[in-house]
Amino acid sequence: MNALRPLLFFILLHASLPLFSQNTLKSPDEFLPHKIGEQFTPHHWLNAYFEYLAANAPSTMRLEKYGVTNEARPLQIAIFSAPENIGKLEQIRQNNLRLTGLAEGQGTTANPVAIVWLSMSVHGNEPSGSECSMQLAHKLATQTDPKIIEWLKNTVVIIDPSLNPDGYDRYSHWNRSVSNLLKTPNPESREHKEPWPGGRSNHYYFDLNRDWAWATQAESQQRLVIYQRWMPHIHADLHEQYLDNPYYFAPAAEPMHDYITPWQRDFQGQIGENHARYFDNNGWLYFTKETFDLFYPSYGDTYPMFSGAIGMTYEQAGNSSAGRAIINGFGDTLTLHERILHHLTTSLSTIEIGSRNAATIVENFQNYYSRSASAPPGQYKAFVIRDVNDPNIVNSLCQLLDRHKIRYGRVGAGLSGVRAFDYVSGKETSVSINPNDLVISTFQPRGVLVEVLFEPEPHLSDSLTYDITAWSLPFAYGLNAYALKDRLEAKKSYEPYKAERIKLAASPYAWCIHRRSLAESVFLGAILQKGVKVRAATKPFAMADQQFAAGTFVINRGDNRNMSDLDQVVQAAAEAANVPLHPIFSGYAGSGHDLGSDAFAMITPPEVALVYGDDVDDNSFGHTWFFFEHELGYPVTPVSLDRLHKVKLSDFNTLIFPGGSYSLTDVQLKTIEDWVKNGGHLIAFEGGAKAFADKEAFDLKAKPEPKKDSTLALRPYRMRERDNISDQLPGAIVKAKVDNSHPLAFGLPDYYFSLKTVATAYQMPEKAVAAIYLEDTYQSYGFIGSRVKPNLKKTPIAAAQRMGEGQAIYFVDNPLFRCFWAQGKILFANAVFY
Ligand SMILES: [Zn+2]
Repeated sequence: MNALRPLLFFILLHASLPLFSQNTLKSPDEFLPHKIGEQFTPHHWLNAYFEYLAANAPSTMRLEKYGVTNEARPLQIAIFSAPENIGKLEQIRQNNLRLTGLAEGQGTTANPVAIVWLSMSVHGNEPSGSECSMQLAHKLATQTDPKIIEWLKNTVVIIDPSLNPDGYDRYSHWNRSVSNLLKTPNPESREHKEPWPGGRSNHYYFDLNRDWAWATQAESQQRLVIYQRWMPHIHADLHEQYLDNPYYFAPAAEPMHDYITPWQRDFQGQIGENHARYFDNNGWLYFTKETFDLFYPSYGDTYPMFSGAIGMTYEQAGNSSAGRAIINGFGDTLTLHERILHHLTTSLSTIEIGSRNAATIVENFQNYYSRSASAPPGQYKAFVIRDVNDPNIVNSLCQLLDRHKIRYGRVGAGLSGVRAFDYVSGKETSVSINPNDLVISTFQPRGVLVEVLFEPEPHLSDSLTYDITAWSLPFAYGLNAYALKDRLEAKKSYEPYKAERIKLAASPYAWCIHRRSLAESVFLGAILQKGVKVRAATKPFAMADQQFAAGTFVINRGDNRNMSDLDQVVQAAAEAANVPLHPIFSGYAGSGHDLGSDAFAMITPPEVALVYGDDVDDNSFGHTWFFFEHELGYPVTPVSLDRLHKVKLSDFNTLIFPGGSYSLTDVQLKTIEDWVKNGGHLIAFEGGAKAFADKEAFDLKAKPEPKKDSTLALRPYRMRERDNISDQLPGAIVKAKVDNSHPLAFGLPDYYFSLKTVATAYQMPEKAVAAIYLEDTYQSYGFIGSRVKPNLKKTPIAAAQRMGEGQAIYFVDNPLFRCFWAQGKILFANAVFY
């Protein structure tokens, strides 16, 4: 030991040197070209400041890059603690992961260190979180305040200064580029009127605060990796809300999801009381227990809750419209300085309460995970995905489970007479389980999250919520699946499906491809772009001993005589999309039509235009944009709605109207009608479909609004407000009937679980064909208002109308909603390649 002493002394001496120099660290005001609060800080400056701090404060801070955005901006977290903790960060991190059971080994709760994570401005045009992060980081890096020195002795603080750099920069650049030299607090001033689409969302206009669980976006995917490396104990998500709502912090409002533990609820209250002390002292207004509920699992507060943390949302008055200063509805001027100061205050208060309760927090965190592994909540204990499902769909589910570190495997041995909830029939029944079925047990570290994501319908304590109320993954993926009340563990590992690559001695006459998942559409898109001619069977047929359903893709050598490398192109695309190919050596059908028959329709490569503009819902546009670029891998051209009658529409054969609130002019309607009749292919969904409802030529007729209760007018106002929810449908699942003989439904089973995102109900069409519709009785999950529910009986979910040479396809809801509804993506791809 003695030999080590001089070395130890040397290390201590040098460890203390940077601490001394940290007193001289530049503040953001000294570092930036502007003073904090006087201007918005573009992301590269925000980043530069954190890099500057990290380079000059090695004993109190670490900076870790965890990814890049779509627009190549870096994603980083900054980690702060006392120097003695910074020296053993890896040890602290690993110990914490052992407490969860996600890492091997026994964790200890001795010398507890609280891990507090502050997420800034996931909505980019709610920038005061990111702005405050620099002042906060300066305090945590310099450690000159005795209170902070004390707190950081048993606390690790992780700051993500900007969860959404692309949106943040869209806002901050715009504001800087249009704002006056002097602040213009008049709400009508240009700096308060952010243009479409605004900086709230990411590059693809996804709301990243709805994407934690589905992780479709690059930012969420990369954040989940680093988040789960740390698994914080407290996670606060810093936002801004409407101008006249002063400040919101925990405790949250009802409905709270049932699996949020009493401890998590209780501790939210303690945090709220601590914040309230500071706000009371300063005379700042605030509210708690209202508006912001904890139900939908894909938020920055609920997801951490289902990961054992205390998850919270903080909302400062402001938002995009607030600019640098604005006169609010009460005639008071709200400045960016104040917004930053309030967020700084709750951030510090969060760290304080984390530090003061480190031992209790760590103990409860450990209990959360041990309960999850030994006595998980909820009535279902295992979820079984049957082996009859398409393996590519199961693959994509497993990819999502991997992102959340959810364990799964094959059952390994068959079972019969098992009582289970059958997702397809919606009933509890006796079932058999095959050895190759996939099972996800809730007895595991991520057991709570498994239960939350898989149980058919979460219990809703209050129907006043502002997001979807059902999301169960087996429905989202359209899977044949069971939920079991008895424990069932995987006995064998699961190997992802890999389509077999065929080696052939001779070129086949044709290649046939079954259609069962999105993978086949991805494959189709890829080969169409290579110039391969593809047909789709309009009826079932058989070749040799193989049966092929209607919708099967057929690539005939005879159609592609000019392509000498046809087999290589087809095989390479099939391998990339993981699609099995079926070589056929004769065009003579065993049953049904021969391959040369016109029962095999030639597919026209879509030339797709996607409408954007002020009337278009930015999220809905973004879901579609992202779907084409990242899911389908097929080109799409955004065209301005305002210019639609000027655009050379004949350059396109497919025109998409995403959700929105449209008021199409007669000229626009006529332009679209003529273009469709000339062979155009219109796809309109949600508000986009509504734009054509009740318009001549378009066969989509709104059903009359359901009648209100006639006694309502006599009831007190308070009850009337409550009654409005009877007309609402915040987002629920309905099981629709599918007409599989219709091209829109090719590849789907005879049911479709639609995520209903609107309450709108249409009449069953006359000229159009409702390929997917709700019957007189239908299964549903989640909250549907009592007047909406019966009104949806016998209404279309998806319909196609032949108009002249073209088609109009209507989807009542958004099948690409947040791009997590896997069955919706299959359906939408069918519409594109109709
Ligand atoms: Zn927000």
